[in-house]
Amino acid sequence: MSLDNKPVYTGGCQCGAVRFRVEGALSNASVCHCRMCQKAFGNFYAPLATAPEGGLTWTRGEPKRFRSSNHVLRGFCAECGTPLTFEAPDGVALAIGAFDHPEEVMPTKQWGTEGKLPYADDVPSLPGRETMADVGDASYLRTLVDYQHPDHDTETWPAEETP
Ligand SMILES: [Zn+2]
Ligand SMILES: [Zn+2]
Repeated sequence: MSLDNKPVYTGGCQCGAVRFRVEGALSNASVCHCRMCQKAFGNFYAPLATAPEGGLTWTRGEPKRFRSSNHVLRGFCAECGTPLTFEAPDGVALAIGAFDHPEEVMPTKQWGTEGKLPYADDVPSLPGRETMADVGDASYLRTLVDYQHPDHDTETWPAEETP
């Protein structure tokens, strides 16, 4: 919460070159199954939430944009490729997975269902395992060093030189 009781959200890309802050309530949290969102996110669908007008600030760097249509820009980190925005004439939506606390931004609607992949609804019923349950087959996990930006703002980044 900010001083005037507005909700505050922060987030950014995987490498930390681009960070954002949102003051005010998000709206239209949704997933879009359309083919353009699949491509832009490299994913089955795009999870997006609209920032309140004037409430979005880029606090470190700024996304590079690709004009995916005459009306829409797609923002992403030029350093690491994380998809970050869907920018339309009626507002800017942010990728829910890029938020520091994506668990706080629950989608309430699906768009673009004409593009829904035939297996998209089956994913939750697939067998699942936690990451470290795989250490027997993927022994490199034992010595994994994580270079992902942490889920909070940082004074300086990278924290130290990474090879
Ligand atoms: Zn990045
Ligand atoms: Zn879409």
